[in-house]
Amino acid sequence: MSRPSAEMSNQSSELVDYNLFSSHSALMEAATREGAAADHAALTQLGAALGSERMFTLGDLANRNPPQLRAFDRLGARRDEVEFHPAWHELMRRLVAAGLHTGPWAERRTGAHVARAAGYLMWAEIENGTQCPATMSYGAVPALAQQGAQFSTWLRLLLSREYDPSLAPAAGKRGALFGMGMTERQGGSDVRTNTTRAQPLGARGPGHEYLLTGHKWFFSAPMCDAFLVLAQAPDGLSCFLVPRFLPDGSVNTLRLQRLKDKLGNRSNASSEVEFDATYGLLVAGEGRGIPTILEMGVYTRLDNAIGSAGLMHQCVAQAIHHARERRAFGRLLAEQPLMRNVLADLALESEAAVALTLRLARAFDAQQDEAATRLRRVLTPVVKYWVCKRAPAVCAEAMEVLGGNGYTEDFPVARRFRESPLNSIWEGSGNIMCLDVLRALAREPRTLEALNELFAAAAGRDARFDGYVAALLHDLRDESEAELRARDLTQRIALAAQAALFLRHGPAPVCEAFLASRLAAGPPAVFGSLPRGSDFSTITSRSLSP
Ligand SMILES: Cc1cc2nc3c(=O)[nH]c(=O)nc-3n(C[C@H](O)[C@H](O)[C@H](O)COP(=O)(O)OP(=O)(O)OC[C@H]3O[C@@H](n4cnc5c(N)ncnc54)[C@H](O)[C@@H]3O)c2cc1C
Repeated sequence: MSRPSAEMSNQSSELVDYNLFSSHSALMEAATREGAAADHAALTQLGAALGSERMFTLGDLANRNPPQLRAFDRLGARRDEVEFHPAWHELMRRLVAAGLHTGPWAERRTGAHVARAAGYLMWAEIENGTQCPATMSYGAVPALAQQGAQFSTWLRLLLSREYDPSLAPAAGKRGALFGMGMTERQGGSDVRTNTTRAQPLGARGPGHEYLLTGHKWFFSAPMCDAFLVLAQAPDGLSCFLVPRFLPDGSVNTLRLQRLKDKLGNRSNASSEVEFDATYGLLVAGEGRGIPTILEMGVYTRLDNAIGSAGLMHQCVAQAIHHARERRAFGRLLAEQPLMRNVLADLALESEAAVALTLRLARAFDAQQDEAATRLRRVLTPVVKYWVCKRAPAVCAEAMEVLGGNGYTEDFPVARRFRESPLNSIWEGSGNIMCLDVLRALAREPRTLEALNELFAAAAGRDARFDGYVAALLHDLRDESEAELRARDLTQRIALAAQAALFLRHGPAPVCEAFLASRLAAGPPAVFGSLPRGSDFSTITSRSLSP
């Protein structure tokens, strides 16, 4: 699993060259349970490939050598390109070849979204910047597919498993990736304040040509082949497909002003862009911008949660591994009672995130099922909120298990900790997710039924759970000052959903520790406070087999 430790020093060995899937029982069981049993062999193979030392190295290289903006050529003409380190391209090539961008759309079958979720979770353990264009491409497919055959060329390229980084018109490409542009200076969450304007070139309506003028304050992965962009058309906020090239083969106007200097996610470029009579095709009707781009947004929110579950798990695995090899005060850290509690509590949080995100992914597999659609509507913002919020706390605590080493960039947790707040911020920050939960419940009363069904399947097995759910449902029906209470309600839905999964599927030690520490006592302010009698070893080894 790992290289031998340096002989003299009580330093732990590097955790590399191990199988990210077969060493992670919680993930294997969740994938099987939620419908990806047939993918077990493929995921095992992927887990071995992703856990290789080479992948850890590529992830490090891509983040230590961030992309560079080449706004101008040496004669001062605009170039508007971003150059990436070869490690980025190698990672992208492998990610696309594995179908972790749009695989489930190319091969529509039961379990495809869950299998991708398991693969994407493991990818998140290794590198996160590459997940940005992968996710946006995943979300772009359903948004474009809804428009019939209009964008079939783009769809074919999006579904390709070839990564083609060339800056070339679609006609000459072997594969394509998409980005998105919503956020402007004056407001990201409230996109109704968008000021970018779109003027029709001739006829108006879906598939017709417009020219966009304005800006986007955040515009990630700007080397993508096309983008879904929000702009104000004569009849309101609308969604446009903005390609890198015009139909005549000339370059579209995307003025990349500068790249953001980010806390984490450094392998990926996030730019500021200006549009000046920039060519775009209307997707759906004028005024349909928000629902159209939200079709993309629900998939990116699912991915944010899966990505955070992966980040947490890798940090926890690194912590467990370190504690199994490092000695202090005459014993291995992993044998010290208080450290056993910390590790088990971290592993419990990681397992709860894995279980919940894969359950949500299953709701995306049942595309035509009404009950799954309702559940997806409300559970997506719940899971995006809660799992992404847990990540920085888990990564920070895991870092501390590595002691001083953990804080240095030579060790793997520091980069992942820097990455960990991001998923909660983009694609709808925490409060926005909680308000979306309320909106889902208010607009469609049967959404509450969908949640209730999830809880009812686990009812009658434990009085703590039954009492918790009864109080939650009571509070959800109380409409007074709901906005003020939205975080509390969302968190409780997430915890009840996680508890329901453990009650139904076990294993018993995990379920008992979760009920005792999360439902009875509330989520821990700090990790390491599981009650006496918890089965620390079993819980811990489900995150990293001994
Ligand atoms: C690295 C990175 C890459 C990004 N890439 C892209 C990209 O490619 N394309 C893109 O379009 N955007 C991108 N974004 C932008 C991101 O989606 C936005 O930053 C995010 O949606 C928040 O918008 P904002 O920054 O305008 O904050 P604001 O909308 O100003 O929100 C600030 C805070 O106020 C809270 N808030 C807002 N409204 C309410 C309310 N009614 N009640 C209570 N609280 C509220 C929010 O939750 C948030 O915490 C990126 C961001 C980052 C950090």
